[in-house]
Amino acid sequence: MKSFWRNLFAFPCLLLLLGGAACTGGGKVVNGAASPMSSDQVQAAAAPAAMKFDDSPETSPPQFNAARAMQYTKEIVAFGPRPIGSANHKKVEDYILSHLKNDNVEQDGFTVDTTEGKFPVRNIIAKFPGTREGIVVIASHYDTNWPLKDIAYVGANDGASSSALLLELANQLRAKKLNGYSVWLLWDDAEESMRLPWYDPEALYGVRHLADRWEKDGTLKNIKAFLLEDMIGDADLNIERDHNSTPWLEDVIYQAATRVGAQSHFFERTGVISDDHIPFMQRGAPSADLIDFSYGYNNVFWHTTQDTVDKLSPKSLEIVGTVTLETLRLLDSMQTPGAK
Ligand SMILES: [Zn+2]
Repeated sequence: MKSFWRNLFAFPCLLLLLGGAACTGGGKVVNGAASPMSSDQVQAAAAPAAMKFDDSPETSPPQFNAARAMQYTKEIVAFGPRPIGSANHKKVEDYILSHLKNDNVEQDGFTVDTTEGKFPVRNIIAKFPGTREGIVVIASHYDTNWPLKDIAYVGANDGASSSALLLELANQLRAKKLNGYSVWLLWDDAEESMRLPWYDPEALYGVRHLADRWEKDGTLKNIKAFLLEDMIGDADLNIERDHNSTPWLEDVIYQAATRVGAQSHFFERTGVISDDHIPFMQRGAPSADLIDFSYGYNNVFWHTTQDTVDKLSPKSLEIVGTVTLETLRLLDSMQTPGAK
């Protein structure tokens, strides 16, 4: 993923963010060249909501197999850098599909025409049916940057950790009959920008294509929540509260984190993140980005060859996996998610 604060000029704003301020005065600066949404669009997707789920003591908290998710992370990393159009990328596609052989899988393949040429792109969607009308999408990108300035990194945290988390979620969803919304796991492609610094029209190709298609075929209006996972394996886990996400959905995530005792890892900092959720937010789908943007001091590991497995922890995968499952449970228990 990306956002503004890889750029040195933006660090003063980052410091404000780390201090917990919303950095509203610099909101446009935060997004740099990529201010993706008007305030109206944010409002449209961000209807305030009282929490209407059943808060009675639930049975045991969800269990997430973090060791297996960590193993998947290592296996994805072992393929090496995986930019679109590369042989490694195809291997990772096949690897993901090999885990979904017994599932209802849709492949959304197409070609993008970028400033660097034409490339094949493939979104992979595994669909787990529920009993209730509506869909919760959980997404992660699996590509790494096209080798810009010869930086070919393996993206252990940036792309591999969240893609692995989704593979383990698939194991869990497959094993039970969902008594609630359908859950669609989305491994989306071509999230990374073809340019440095970040340039929105040269990124988010996979989700832009899919959000557009789902808007046209009517799927979009059935999406009750779009949960994005990105850079969630950092051993020092601090998930941001993102001001480009839907506030009521962020509140549900925080409630879920609190219920499983993981709230200290959530929302101590705020940010304005441009990531794969933006095309869905722009179309009015409630969306949230679960992202830890503090990856090493001043983000020194991000988009570098230092983004390696040794910086990650299975504990972080367990926390995010468990909170995600608890978020699903809370959404299922809400009469009308997002309604007052
Ligand atoms: Zn990235």
